[in-house]
Amino acid sequence: MMQRASDWVLGTDPKQRLRLGRSLAAAGVFLVCLMIEFAAVLLGMADRTHAFAMGGLILTGLLVIYVALRSGWSLKWSDPALTMPQMVFAIVLISFAYYINPLNRGMVTILASLVLVFGAFILSPRRCRQLGWFAVAALGCVMLYCTLRFPLLFPPRLEAFNFLLTALVLPVIAALAGQLSALRFQQQAQKKELREALEKVRMLATHDELTGLPNRRQVLELLAHEERRALRQRASLCSCLIDIDHFKRVNDTLGHQAGDEALQRFSSILASALRAGDVLARWGGEEFVLLLPATPVDEAASVIERLRARCADPANWVGRPELRVTFSAGLSAHKDGESMQQVIARADAALYRAKSEGRNRLVIG
Ligand code: GH3
Ligand code: MG
Ligand code: MG
Repeated sequence: MMQRASDWVLGTDPKQRLRLGRSLAAAGVFLVCLMIEFAAVLLGMADRTHAFAMGGLILTGLLVIYVALRSGWSLKWSDPALTMPQMVFAIVLISFAYYINPLNRGMVTILASLVLVFGAFILSPRRCRQLGWFAVAALGCVMLYCTLRFPLLFPPRLEAFNFLLTALVLPVIAALAGQLSALRFQQQAQKKELREALEKVRMLATHDELTGLPNRRQVLELLAHEERRALRQRASLCSCLIDIDHFKRVNDTLGHQAGDEALQRFSSILASALRAGDVLARWGGEEFVLLLPATPVDEAASVIERLRARCADPANWVGRPELRVTFSAGLSAHKDGESMQQVIARADAALYRAKSEGRNRLVIG
C-alpha cells in the first residue's frame, strides 16, 4: 500500500525518484518557512496578505516544479533534476521574504547563504558562483525597491549597509561552495579512474591477452568453485583438455605471428560455438580447457564433436585458410568424491591417448 503510494508520487524510475525525493525535501523546507511566516503574522510581526501571497507563490512554484519533474518533461533539459531553477526559485522566495519582513530582514538574508551552501553538493562550481551573483542581484533589487518605495520601513542608509554586506558575503560563500563542488567533481573523476584501472587489472589478472579467454589462474579458481558445487549438488560436470595438432608446424612454416593469429581464430571459433554456461579457457600455449557444467558425458562428447566440425569448416577460416588446424581432446566426467585435480589428470591422460592414436579425435577418460 505504502509502496504503491510512493510509486504514484515519485514514479518507479530510480533516478527520477531521487530527483523528486530531493525536490520534495526542499519543498518541506519551504513549507516550514511558510509556517514561520504565519507564526510571525500571529505575533503581529508580519502582514497577513503578504503571508498569503507568499503561500501562493510557494505552492504555485512547487506545483510547477513537481509537474515538470514527475511528467518527465524536465528530461529534455541538460539539467533534468531542474536543480538550478529550483535554487533560483529559492532565492526569489528569499528576496520576497525580505520585502514582506522589514523587521526580520537580517535573518532572511542568512537563508540565502544556506541555499548557496546546498549548492556545493548539487551544483557545478560555475553554477555555484553564478547563483551567488544572482542572489546579490535579486536581493539588491529588492533592497533598492523597498528603500525607494518605503523609506521609513527601509531606511536608505541601513539598506545601503545591508547591501554592501550582502554583496561582500554572498559571493565569498558562493566561491567557497564552488571550491567544495570542484573537490567533489575531482573526487568523482578519481573514483571513476580508479574503478576503471581496477577493472583493467582484474581483467589482466584473470584473462589471457592474446585470445581474451579466461587464463589458467581463473580456471583453477573456477575449478575450486565447481568442486564445491559438484559436492553439494552432485551435478554432473565434464572437463575437456584440448590441444591443437601439430601447432609447431604452423609456427615453423608461417611464422610466430601467424601462429598467434591461428590461436586467436581457433579460440573465437570454439567460443562462438559454446552454450552460455560453458567455460573455455587458455590452459597454456596451444592447450585449452573446456568446462561443461551440468552436462552428462555423452552430451559433452557431442558438444566437442560440434567444435571439431566448426574447426574443420573452411567457412570459419575465410581469408586465412592456411591457418586451419585440427585438435585432439581428452574428456572426463566428474565422479563422486573425486577432486577436480583428479578429473583434469584423467582428461590429460585421455588427451595423451588421443594424440598417440593419431590426433584429430576425442578420447573419453
Ligand atoms: P601435437 O600435435 O603433438 O600437440 O604437436 P604440437 O606441435 O602442437 O605440440 P608441441 O606442444 O610440441 O608444440 C606446441 C607449440 O605451440 C610450441 C610453441 O612454440 C607453440 N606455442 C605455444 N604458445 C604459443 C603462442 O602463444 N603463440 C605461438 N605462435 N605459438 C605458441
Ligand atoms: Mg599441440
Ligand atoms: Mg601442447
